[in-house]
Amino acid sequence: MTYRAPVRDLAFALEAAADFGRLAGAFPGADAETVRAVLEGAGALAADVLAPLNRAGDQVGARYENGRVTAAPGFAEAYRQLAAGGWTGLAADAEWGGQGLPKALDIAVFEIIQAANLAFGLCPLLTQGAVEAIEKNGDARQKALYLPKLVTGEWTGTMNLTEPQAGSDLGALTTKAEPDGDHWRLSGQKIFITWGDHDMADNIVHLVLARLPDAPPGSRGLSLFIAPKRLVGEDGSLGAMNDLRPGSIEHKLGIHASPTCVMLYEGAKAELIGAPNQGLAAMFVMMNAARLGVGVQGVAIAERAYQQALAYALDRKQGRSAWTGAYPSRLFDHPDVRRSLMLMKARIEAARAICLSTAVAADLARTATNPVDRDAANFRQELLTPIAKAWSTDMGVETASSALQIQGGMGFIEETGAAQHYRDARILPIYEGTNGIHAIDLMGRKLALGKGAAVRELVDDIMPTAAHLKSADDAWLHTVGARLESGLAAVQSATGWLIERRGHAQPDALAGATPYLKLLGDVVGGWMLGKGALVASQRIAEGAPDPDYWRTKIGLARVFSEQVLAQAPGLTQAVTQGSVDLFRATPEALGA
Ligand SMILES: Cc1cc2nc3c(=O)[nH]c(=O)nc-3n(C[C@H](O)[C@H](O)[C@H](O)COP(=O)(O)OP(=O)(O)OC[C@H]3O[C@@H](n4cnc5c(N)ncnc54)[C@H](O)[C@@H]3O)c2cc1C
Repeated sequence: MTYRAPVRDLAFALEAAADFGRLAGAFPGADAETVRAVLEGAGALAADVLAPLNRAGDQVGARYENGRVTAAPGFAEAYRQLAAGGWTGLAADAEWGGQGLPKALDIAVFEIIQAANLAFGLCPLLTQGAVEAIEKNGDARQKALYLPKLVTGEWTGTMNLTEPQAGSDLGALTTKAEPDGDHWRLSGQKIFITWGDHDMADNIVHLVLARLPDAPPGSRGLSLFIAPKRLVGEDGSLGAMNDLRPGSIEHKLGIHASPTCVMLYEGAKAELIGAPNQGLAAMFVMMNAARLGVGVQGVAIAERAYQQALAYALDRKQGRSAWTGAYPSRLFDHPDVRRSLMLMKARIEAARAICLSTAVAADLARTATNPVDRDAANFRQELLTPIAKAWSTDMGVETASSALQIQGGMGFIEETGAAQHYRDARILPIYEGTNGIHAIDLMGRKLALGKGAAVRELVDDIMPTAAHLKSADDAWLHTVGARLESGLAAVQSATGWLIERRGHAQPDALAGATPYLKLLGDVVGGWMLGKGALVASQRIAEGAPDPDYWRTKIGLARVFSEQVLAQAPGLTQAVTQGSVDLFRATPEALGA
């Protein structure tokens, strides 16, 4: 089963749901024709080069031999093609060799690359994060030295946070940085470092969190360093190997072709990036980029799994269809299978639009000329990032599971590939901050943004769409509007409760964080599909070709509103009453 990039759906999501048009002033070159050409080009690379390597990548995987990592078969050549095609620098500044296109378009391309080959896609995903972190925090020399090589894909980047005793709790990191003349020496052990070593590029730029000798304890005492695999001369030339190496790679449930390395820093030469003890803030630039990237991975794996399930449902025949009466009938013609396929597609389109909207907000936060617009875009990006990460990756796992289910026993058999998607998807809610940690971030930091202004502004933006849908002369659009309206009421009630509880009953608020993220994600997703449905109904009214396509967009919004949004009041219950006093259960009472 191959992968076909959903170019039409991506272009539609950008335009109808993510308000890509708002970027026209800052990015005049990114017109509809360019968007389509870029997406089609990425689709060709994905179908011809990346997707065919996905299965061998799973079966053979990355290898660790003689202290070095070798990428899975074909990956090094595919990476060269990715870099040669300029795909690593789409959104980077032209000053560093990039193409200066919107991040939102880059994120759409990212979906295509990740869907074709999730394990492969992690390498450019992290490199992109390193580019953003260096661009934001580096000095002029560091930018000139590292950015052109990373942007053009000659070198790749990694993110080194995790240590055995410090996973979610970054304040527990112990890797040390000692001064040595005009530079620093890093010693310590990092674990789970994605693409920490490989043979696909000439050099690897490790961004590493470590502690200076006199650093305060906890996360306020972390500094960010650049430690390249091979030392770099002032002219960019490559020198000797640095004193760092991969100690081993992990054997994992999925993404076998993405080497997950133990990295040993043995007095590695490094340079400080940003101010001392401000490393976590500097690293957050990379983490936010990677969080959105991982959210997109959730959309991507879901789309890939869905395409396979749809093809299977059209091919496999079982039983008699209650609709057509045909015997034997395609699985597709059984109402329960059709429901499942439509729900999958609706949730994929909702998550896609959430991720693209987050990227549009990031573009606006960077380019808006008016400070009010810039601040609003910043809030929106901050608020949507945990939703893009957690909601989309939960959806990715659930959709990979539903897709496997549609293929019955064959889904469980490795040869069909459905099992690989399911295994690959399972890491997404775990890495880049577990989804539980993102829910806490949403409930804590993000609800507090602008003293609650970020959520208020979001609700204010959704209301007119709900009203517009409700007043439409179309029963389906009306239903979507009504469900969206009651979803908003549920969000307002849960938000008010959380804000009130945080003050005097923190554990209650923390226990309600995950259902709150789901609730907000469901409502934002419903909003995105509702916006798309309004555009689709406009197209139908204009007599646009392919009315089935547009009618189905309205149908997907309706399926989502009836099967997902309808649960919003229940989720508010789960946030509020469901979480009160939960923390009082003892281990023994729970069976320990
Ligand atoms: C394949 C893979 C690739 C990775 N790539 C990288 C990489 O490139 N760079 C890197 O630095 N790291 C990487 N990681 C590490 C990854 O980001 C961590 O595994 C993740 O952040 C969780 O940390 P942990 O595994 O220590 O789990 P823990 O922190 O031990 O968490 C375990 C569980 O407890 C919950 N929990 C923890 N603390 C709290 C709390 N305060 N409140 C409520 N719940 C809590 C979590 O949600 C989770 O469900 C990777 C991991 C894997 C498996």
